[in-house]
Amino acid sequence: MWLLSNILWWTISEKNREIIEDLWVIDFHSHIWNILVRDEDQIYDENKRFPTDIRTVWWNFGKFKAPWKIMQTIMHTKIVDDILKESGKNRNSSATLKTFSESINKSFITKSIILPIPPHQTFEDLLMARDYDERMILFTWVDFTSLVNLSKEKYQIELKLLDNKFKEQIALWAKWLKIHPIIQGVSADSDIVDDVVDIWKKYDLPVIFHTWVTEYCNKKENCSAHKPEYGEIKYFINLAQKHRDLKIVIWHSWLFQVDEVINYLSRYENVTVDTSFQSKEKILWLLKSFWSDRLMFASDWPYWDRIPALNVMLETLNGDEDLIRKIMRDNSLESMNLK
Ligand SMILES: [Zn+2]
Repeated sequence: MWLLSNILWWTISEKNREIIEDLWVIDFHSHIWNILVRDEDQIYDENKRFPTDIRTVWWNFGKFKAPWKIMQTIMHTKIVDDILKESGKNRNSSATLKTFSESINKSFITKSIILPIPPHQTFEDLLMARDYDERMILFTWVDFTSLVNLSKEKYQIELKLLDNKFKEQIALWAKWLKIHPIIQGVSADSDIVDDVVDIWKKYDLPVIFHTWVTEYCNKKENCSAHKPEYGEIKYFINLAQKHRDLKIVIWHSWLFQVDEVINYLSRYENVTVDTSFQSKEKILWLLKSFWSDRLMFASDWPYWDRIPALNVMLETLNGDEDLIRKIMRDNSLESMNLK
């Protein structure tokens, strides 16, 4: 297994390594810990190894060039779907401080944005993790369960408390807000999300929504609390229209529905996208529709791998220094008001 993992392990050319090290690349979207269950000890596990699995093989040898439609059909067959879900879970449970550090070291990335996925992780968890590795840029979150079934008065008090929490956490370097409509059971155009983003947007920092209809469970499991339908694009069109002054990030450019995001969301100047999981061909399309200001480099580690993400990005940008600087660092800094 060690040998296989090393044969399959991505490599960075000398030339790319120089570009990356000179630039101080920021990975605009990744995770640590476990997004699906609460597991206090996971990130401290020193023995977990990062898996070499179907994704590693697929993206190494497929080089992102498989025809999109055929790829989707294959991925939706039950057998592949189950294998991919297992692989996702396995990667998710292998995202420890040690594997995070290995992945960052091997890819020469300077800092990585880390998304908590509530309710299983919170800002406090990530604050603790950052004590061990300061290459993490943190997110905050909202406990939507604290905002339901309340009197009007109580609801306003809770919103005020939330605002105070944001203020405190931003002072501790929370740079983003993460909302996961599917796992948290709130649609992006609901009143409750309206109220929350109204508070958040006065800090002029980005909010990332999980988008794309995602089912985390295979058919045998009971995940009735999850709302996969909240990943549909219509909710995000409404959100982008309603909150023109909110910095909305659509992660991995909607994955396999990247064409829809180009068609329906690129027209909103408050919407930006990240490149995780996208092929060279699609990144070029994104560049034409979102332009260079609203496109950010990201890996989505542990679900994808950092080195192929970097290689695809650099191949796409083909030595254009201005674009490389913007997409792999400056856009990200600007969105967090750090530049
Ligand atoms: Zn992700």
